[in-house]
Amino acid sequence: MDIPRIFTVTESAHRIHNPITPDKLATLGAALRLEPGTRVLDLASGSGEMLCTWARDLGVVGTGVDLSALFTEHARLRAEELGVTGQVTFIHGDAAGYVSGEKVGLAACVGATWIGGGVAGTIDLLAQSLQSGGIILIGEPFWRQMPPTDAVAAGCLATSIADFLTLPDLLASFGHLGYDVVEMVLADQDGWDRYEAAKWLTMRRWLEANPDDELAAEVRAQLTSEPERYATYTREYLGWGVFALMRQ
Ligand code: SAH
Repeated sequence: MDIPRIFTVTESAHRIHNPITPDKLATLGAALRLEPGTRVLDLASGSGEMLCTWARDLGVVGTGVDLSALFTEHARLRAEELGVTGQVTFIHGDAAGYVSGEKVGLAACVGATWIGGGVAGTIDLLAQSLQSGGIILIGEPFWRQMPPTDAVAAGCLATSIADFLTLPDLLASFGHLGYDVVEMVLADQDGWDRYEAAKWLTMRRWLEANPDDELAAEVRAQLTSEPERYATYTREYLGWGVFALMRQ
């Protein structure tokens, strides 16, 4: 039970597996005005940077669930490094359908809304773990510029234009689901570079260390094509943000 190995190769050195940067993650945590001791559930917690830094800086406690054994191991090491092992727990497992035993004040899924079959389904899933008056966090891409064709959307690694909304439409969609948008922090192109360009050096070093690996040809092809694809498509057309929601 794990994610496809290619991601654990290309993102093995990432602390944050999204275009949000450490400073923006800190801005978001502060913006939410969480009381120390607030319980957090983070579905698809990756390498645990949000939970670990917010435990250290804001005194929250919580649980992360992620399907990647490697990222979960990195999250546990990060908790040790930041001295927050008493506050956070990382579970290696499938977050689809995961509901916490104890209700939480903040329920998050940052950049993995496929676990609930899309944004609406993921909000419904998170709501099942949320105490009344709690906050839901959703990290999701949106079209920064509308792609003119589905081919351009495909260049952004979307299946079609319909995969994502514009920012105004995404914000409106939360309202249609019965939620107020109470905060947001948006990534910018520099943040996208930190997420995407960081993969390139990781791939290059991995190729040097693993020339005979079964994934070597795929990683070589990605390293060759990704900078130009990314600059042509994702960097221009795709935005990304984390949205804080409260039930109306
Ligand atoms: N929220 C983290 C990770 C986002 S990347 C961050 O912002 O850094 C997407 C994550 O989803 C990866 O860590 C991947 O391992 C995880 N993932 C993918 N499918 C999953 C599933 N079914 N259940 C739990 N985690 C999943």
